[in-house]
Amino acid sequence: MVESRTVKILDTTLRDGEQTPGVSLTPEQKLQIARQLDILGVDIIEAGTAIISEGEQRAIKSIVKAGLRAEISSFARLLRGDIDAAIDCDVDTVNLVAPVSDDHIKKKLKIDRETLRRMTMEAAEYVKGHGLKVEISAEDASRADMAFLKSLFTELSDAGVVDRLCFCDTVGVLYPERTKEIFSALSDLNTPISAHCHNDFGLATANSIAAVLAGAQVVHVTVNGMGERAGNASLEEVVTALDLLYGVKSGIVKEKLYETSRLVRNVTKMPVAPNKPLMGDNAFTHESGMHVHGTLADTSLYEPMDPELIGRKRRFAFGKHTGRASVKMALEEMGITADDSGMEKILSKVKELGDKGKLVTDSDFQAIVDDILHIERKERIKLLDLSVVSGKNVYPTASIRLEIDGEDKVEAGVGVGPVDAALNALRKAMSGSEMNDLRLEEYHVDAITGGTDALVNVVVKMSRGDRAITASGISEDIVLASMHAMIKGINRLYS
Ligand code: MN
Repeated sequence: MVESRTVKILDTTLRDGEQTPGVSLTPEQKLQIARQLDILGVDIIEAGTAIISEGEQRAIKSIVKAGLRAEISSFARLLRGDIDAAIDCDVDTVNLVAPVSDDHIKKKLKIDRETLRRMTMEAAEYVKGHGLKVEISAEDASRADMAFLKSLFTELSDAGVVDRLCFCDTVGVLYPERTKEIFSALSDLNTPISAHCHNDFGLATANSIAAVLAGAQVVHVTVNGMGERAGNASLEEVVTALDLLYGVKSGIVKEKLYETSRLVRNVTKMPVAPNKPLMGDNAFTHESGMHVHGTLADTSLYEPMDPELIGRKRRFAFGKHTGRASVKMALEEMGITADDSGMEKILSKVKELGDKGKLVTDSDFQAIVDDILHIERKERIKLLDLSVVSGKNVYPTASIRLEIDGEDKVEAGVGVGPVDAALNALRKAMSGSEMNDLRLEEYHVDAITGGTDALVNVVVKMSRGDRAITASGISEDIVLASMHAMIKGINRLYS
């Protein structure tokens, strides 16, 4: 019988991930992410570092009280105050960070190895004495003396005061061959070993996998690979690669990966590169004619997996590499037929726009088709007037006059800024119509030129039921650019 391997997932988005420069979460936001991690099927949630602030303690307490399935852990140094703060939050586990490289021991803690050994043992005993689980995070383990590390781990394991022992590649200098050696050497301990890898050389996923294959039973990961510097090992990559390429299963519900990634992006305001594996915008987007043609014949030709496996959808984009197959498919979707010469004209217009370096959105494509095939399309919604007030000591407020299906409609809205206020007014105006199932999925703004008189390009992605489309608007005025993009998209989606 083939023994199927499994691995446990410790997600540290709320601790190491929050240490990403520029990221700070409110207790409510941390709870929102924790709930999603629990739905995703994470085994252990590292909720934060209790000692750092009153807000952090509130966050950890609310996560503990939320009644999640996952084990909840707080990070703590080997100090009584840190540990008491964690215990006070009623967590299941305290993750004790013990710096183990000589540089960290001498230069940071200004102690010696034996003192470190004693402090670690005492801290672990103290936590255990309170009936909690203990994980030891051996910080900078990849630059520590291996004999010392092994003897420290052995002593802790033999004393029965630890539940997990974590090898931390704190500065991301491991590589898969070395990782395999190290974790093989630690695999004879009676305590489960965890791997905590950083991505400084882009090897965090590879190293996490090597660690698991060599015996690690737990991996520390973050959503979208967030974390200090180049980040931590990415949950999505580690889980999906282990499962699909190595047959190592976890408790993660893979279909929930994309919605989790999206939620974390939205809450933390940390964007994800378009080419990021699995989660980036382009990970399942096809533009080149050759690839689209092949993908339409058999989706596996140019895709490593079915995108639905991780909760995503395949997308075809238009640009200078677009081929006939994409145009044909898009026309079919729109319920339009074109003869060969019409097709050629549409294709060459798309390529022309793409050649200029422009993003060809779905609504641009429709405008091209309508123009070439002389299709008269009634615009369901037209912007007649818009005014916005914003500034200091004033709620950004917008008033809007629209023509919706031939009828005048006036509405006002407030928001966190002028764009938000204008979009809220638009939403309110539409809420009474049958166009009220619209969802704005993405909003993105770029300055096309420099300077304060820059032209800005707003790209929106919106959906209605199963259908999603992109549209853009360009103006020197960011509110108008946003409104143009929205209205173009709405007219396309509800045509
Ligand atoms: Mn770390």
